[in-house]
Amino acid sequence: MIEGSQKNLDNSSRQDTVVLEKGSNLMAVLTGAGLERSVAFEAIEALRDVYNPRKLRAGQEFDLVYASEISGDTGDLLDTLRFQPDAETIVSVSRTDDGFSASTDKVELVNSPNATSGTIDQSLFMAAEKNGMPLSVLMEMIKLYSYDVDFQRDIQPGDSFEVMYDDMKNTKGDLVRHGDIVYASMNIRGTDYRLYSYTDSDGNQDFYNEKGESFRRALMRTPINGSRLSSGFGMRKHPILGYSRMHQGVDFAAPTGTPIFAAGNGTIERIGKAGGYGNYIRLRHNSTYETAYGHMSRFAKGLHTGSRVKQGDVIGYVGMSGTATGPHLHFEILKAAHQVNPISVKMPSGRTLTGKELDRFRNNSELLQKQYAELSIEGAKVASAD
Ligand SMILES: [Zn+2]
Repeated sequence: MIEGSQKNLDNSSRQDTVVLEKGSNLMAVLTGAGLERSVAFEAIEALRDVYNPRKLRAGQEFDLVYASEISGDTGDLLDTLRFQPDAETIVSVSRTDDGFSASTDKVELVNSPNATSGTIDQSLFMAAEKNGMPLSVLMEMIKLYSYDVDFQRDIQPGDSFEVMYDDMKNTKGDLVRHGDIVYASMNIRGTDYRLYSYTDSDGNQDFYNEKGESFRRALMRTPINGSRLSSGFGMRKHPILGYSRMHQGVDFAAPTGTPIFAAGNGTIERIGKAGGYGNYIRLRHNSTYETAYGHMSRFAKGLHTGSRVKQGDVIGYVGMSGTATGPHLHFEILKAAHQVNPISVKMPSGRTLTGKELDRFRNNSELLQKQYAELSIEGAKVASAD
């Protein structure tokens, strides 16, 4: 049971590392390491205050720190049981005057900025993969741009992207997770769409374009989990997809079950079956705008006429109910009760920074832009050195 034993040179304590093997449990691990059953039991009981031992997985390592170096019977001298159930959490069970007590700590992380760029020739997904862009970063980028970009129709070969994000590393320098985007740019059909992360003087973080306008729009242009869109982001255009007078909406081809988002804050005006639309939801956003969603496989739980929803809430899932030849979301924007072309409708933007806040934002964006340029030069050097 004892995988490795690290004898501490400090002769006041000794440390072992033991591993949970498949089919075993923590009690067996601890008694196998030489602990008395009653001590192991007490430690596990204390652990339950902060962590459910049933969640432990085979392969989990535990550090056992003993109070003193005594050869032979150390079973009752356990000082601390420590393990990391995930890359960011440390769980410790330590001896106190009366038994054991458990606590959790966050692993100390340092951020290390990283940059990726690429040109789209087949699909955004393939370009991201080819350039080593982590999936979590790609998904965050798609979410940011879902307000402005129709991911199934707007993106074309030759379009490109740049992104800078914070990688989170532990103090040993190991990557723990990819962090948040701090700067992104998409060049779509010759136009640059740049977004900068900015924390205002009240401490609220958000993304703004270079003019200091919030990336958020009253309505999203891609009200669906964009990372699951089929046919590679607008490359192979589905013949029946797209806006036409006959059609009065846009279709997003995506696998059945793909989450559909409320395009904006609003109230459910209609939910249920609606002829060729199949499972259908219509949301009212204000006195002028409504949006409608068709062909859903099912609705999100608990929704009914009059339910209030927030932008980005999941309201249902892609399907092919009603008249549909394949799974897709049929999406309509209605202005004064008439369908309008979602592709061309100009979405009003949210907050715009002004005055001192705008100055601060501009300084911050300049720094981000500079940092990105430096990182991409470094990246190019590394690549050419290979
Ligand atoms: Zn449609």
